[in-house]
Amino acid sequence: MSRTRLPLIAAAFVVASALVVAAAPSNPGTPLLEKWKGAYGGVPPFDKIKVADFKPALEAAMAENLKEIEAIAKSPAKPDFENTVAAFERSGKTLERVSRIYNVYSSTMSSDDFQKVETEMEPKLAAFRDQIVQNKDLFSRIAAVYDARESSNLTPEQKRLVWLDYTNFVRAGARLEGDARQRLTEINQKLASLFTKFSQNLLADEKDYVLYLDKESDLAGLPPGVREGAAAAAETRGKKGQWAILNTRSSMEPFLTYSDRRDLREKVWRTYYARGNNGDAKDNNATISEILKLRAERATLLGYPTHAHWRLEDSMAKTPERAMELMEAVWKPAVARVHEEVADMQAVADAEADKGGPKITIEPWDYRYYAEKVRKAKYDLDQNAVMPYLQLEKMREAIFWNAGRLFGLQFKPAKDVPVVHPDVRVWEVTDAAGKHVGLWYFDPYARPGKQSGAWMNAYRRQSKFDGAVTTIVSNNANFVKGKPGEPVLISWDDASTMFHEFGHALHGLLSSVSYPSLAGTNVARDYVEFPSQLLEHWVSVPDVLNRFALHYKTGQPIPKELVEKIDRASKFNQGFITVEYLAGALVDMKLHLAATADKAIDPQVFERDTLTALGMPKEIVMRHRTTQFSHIFSGDAYSAGYYSYLWSDTLSADAWEAFVEAGGPYDKTVAKRLVDNVLSTGNTIDPADDYRAFRGRDPGIAALMRKRGFPVPAAQAAAAP
Ligand SMILES: [Zn+2]
Repeated sequence: MSRTRLPLIAAAFVVASALVVAAAPSNPGTPLLEKWKGAYGGVPPFDKIKVADFKPALEAAMAENLKEIEAIAKSPAKPDFENTVAAFERSGKTLERVSRIYNVYSSTMSSDDFQKVETEMEPKLAAFRDQIVQNKDLFSRIAAVYDARESSNLTPEQKRLVWLDYTNFVRAGARLEGDARQRLTEINQKLASLFTKFSQNLLADEKDYVLYLDKESDLAGLPPGVREGAAAAAETRGKKGQWAILNTRSSMEPFLTYSDRRDLREKVWRTYYARGNNGDAKDNNATISEILKLRAERATLLGYPTHAHWRLEDSMAKTPERAMELMEAVWKPAVARVHEEVADMQAVADAEADKGGPKITIEPWDYRYYAEKVRKAKYDLDQNAVMPYLQLEKMREAIFWNAGRLFGLQFKPAKDVPVVHPDVRVWEVTDAAGKHVGLWYFDPYARPGKQSGAWMNAYRRQSKFDGAVTTIVSNNANFVKGKPGEPVLISWDDASTMFHEFGHALHGLLSSVSYPSLAGTNVARDYVEFPSQLLEHWVSVPDVLNRFALHYKTGQPIPKELVEKIDRASKFNQGFITVEYLAGALVDMKLHLAATADKAIDPQVFERDTLTALGMPKEIVMRHRTTQFSHIFSGDAYSAGYYSYLWSDTLSADAWEAFVEAGGPYDKTVAKRLVDNVLSTGNTIDPADDYRAFRGRDPGIAALMRKRGFPVPAAQAAAAP
């Protein structure tokens, strides 16, 4: 995950208004408003932050930004790149600084006091962004620069920035007049409350439906960790002595994987996949119909055939048709693999029946259970055998070493840099010649008030147009802190995630652009995960493992046979994983292509008919069924965009093979091409052109098929996604 990707059009302006103008702090008691001081071009003053300062600082910074915008919009000078687009790029520097620290608090230091500030400030920040998008004078100046872009001697990067600003305004409705403009505002507000309703309904179904088990025999097959978790969950719900299976993914998945009780597996499965679809007060079907209608109406207002066309316009795929092409190319081989997986599982079930067990046919609630049995028999990979070789600090050294070998970067602890929490450490990053590149903050441990998962965040974006500004990025995770002096051991997945997040960090650090809105990870949604997914490949490179995957007691490197087992196991169950995901991605896109403003879609009928037409294997359901599909109905960000994960993975698999073809993971020429055309260019170039310059051709799906262990049809071997 990359935190720097701002999903909503309006929100992009916070980034667009990035770096700029020395503003006299209007409230001298608030260090948040001051320019960052100290070494490395200034660093965030995390040692001086008081939660009470956020509100006045944000308000003062917004007021200052509006004044700057007014000055640009009302300028008597004829609009040109410098006095309009560059000036817009320069505006909002104070707000950018305050917002970055505010976001760090929101994601890692969220106290009750802070949440109160957030509840008060979020609507104000949203209204502020609307105010900028709806500034007609500003838009007409940007439009004038845009119209004259071909005859104004602009650099390619300047042209791209003009295009981006203009497009963002238009996509947010800047060209609308009168009633249409009014209607757009109404639709956006109505959608915002429907998104909240959808999320709250779903949350209620996850909270309210709990399966309590009260007999040991109900727990048959569950490993000790799962039992303990279920016992603790029951106790916090006032049912000490029982076991609670919650209606959440993290409770459902282990239960369906391990429980020997087929009747209970079915019960848990049915409850989980009925979320939002229980025909009660929390049912999401009507809300979804309404969201789809409003989105279609908005797309029409903005001049697009469908919501999907509007969403994909600024993506790498560009059109829903291109995204559908990729999904359909992967769909058939994935379904074929599911049939093989089901046959393997049915064989296990039949063998059990021969030994006196019940005769069954694999149903959706049996999939995870029998897949686990097949996995054990075929791959016999024990996570507990892997973890002693994966020490958190050694893996951090590994990502540094890898970045050194690939890109010539050096890392040394940074001095006198304040941090938001004592767990955070900071490194200075330099190039091979010792020149300062940026700072990397590492916040590895879980704590109250920190959101779960792992992510990258940018505190300062690279730019060159007003003198060199270097990048500040952070990687964040939720490892459980060990006892002093004891190493923290992590899983193989966690080690991959560290490489992934560091891929986002490198995308920020290696950025070399003029304008901050185009810097680093501020790229299309279906492109931003490409560098991070690509970096994951280096976790299993022998040069890395032999140096850094060392047993915490013996210091011996991880055995080759164990790594081979991990690699083989990575192809296991890919039919299920791909089909479960892809069914959702296809339904998402088809829903947003089919929806119109005047005819309500029945989500149940649509889901059923679409999956039947696709030939969905009956043993699998969508990973997120329509009534529980938060990605697409709790906000706009991933609507008609769930395909992005597959799109990025197609690029990363194909890009990795560029290294393999050239002779290895550290091929200098390919690494340089990656920096020159992908990691340094940010959003200055269309991603499709960027990729073509790196790879020498368009991406094909053959590498993805190999990565997932699917056969590569000859016709598709060289086809673009
Ligand atoms: Zn990511």
